[in-house]
Amino acid sequence: MSSIVELKNVYKSFGSNQVLNGVSLAIPKGHVTAIIGRSGSGKSTALRCIDRLEVIDSGEIQVCGHQVHAPDIDLRALRKDVGIVFQSYNLFPHLTVEQNITLAPCAVKGLSKAQAKDIAIRTLTHVGLLDKASFYPEQLSGGQQQRVAIARSLAMEPQVMLFDEVTSALDPQLTGEVLKVIEMLAADGMTMVLVTHEMEFAARVADTVVFMHQGKVWETGPGEMLRKPQTAELQAFLSGGL
Ligand code: ADP
Ligand code: MG
Repeated sequence: MSSIVELKNVYKSFGSNQVLNGVSLAIPKGHVTAIIGRSGSGKSTALRCIDRLEVIDSGEIQVCGHQVHAPDIDLRALRKDVGIVFQSYNLFPHLTVEQNITLAPCAVKGLSKAQAKDIAIRTLTHVGLLDKASFYPEQLSGGQQQRVAIARSLAMEPQVMLFDEVTSALDPQLTGEVLKVIEMLAADGMTMVLVTHEMEFAARVADTVVFMHQGKVWETGPGEMLRKPQTAELQAFLSGGL
């Protein structure tokens, strides 16, 4: 199976803090990979390196044929293929939902207003928010704003979507509606990497679970791995001891 995202022996430090310690990961097309681990284990950094929001010290990262570690990487081309959604939705407050979604397709991809509007309608339908197209972000709940952020990312028609703890700021009910959208995308065959604290969800939806510990891939396997952890560190993490 060909990998759409591949990390080989990736190292990254911030000053004297060695955050990624030789991370290798291969993510096949159409797979959902969940990254779990305690706070500070390097999950967000790993995700940010995939989109080159952080530049790695050594190793290799390939994403959809882009050599992300190369100094001459075409960032625009990379970011057309990679969608990333964070815990904070970062919607533009002065733009409507529809304007938030059509901005990048027009500015970055050069689509006409009509083409971008078609995409906005399609992606908003996908996340169940077509009726909110003319609303402003502040008129929406946190869960709805996060779904708009996902729609905005999908509007660029990425090859792979990265989610960094997108439900951490939401209460359980709103978390559920966002997870449902992610689950739908999984059913559609979208390649996704999600950093998450939702263990039940990871166990059910992920093809592969990656447990990071001290900047390394400590244990990896299918969702069932969370029911039968092999290492003492994953056991401790799952029982809340880490
Ligand atoms: P996680 O997402 O697993 O909680 P992070 O990747 O965010 O972990 O952080 C891992 C470590 O890297 C932490 O010690 C954090 O303080 C540090 N770190 C992350 N980003 C930066 C940055 N931009 N500058 C300095 N240190 C950072
Ligand atoms: Mg993080």
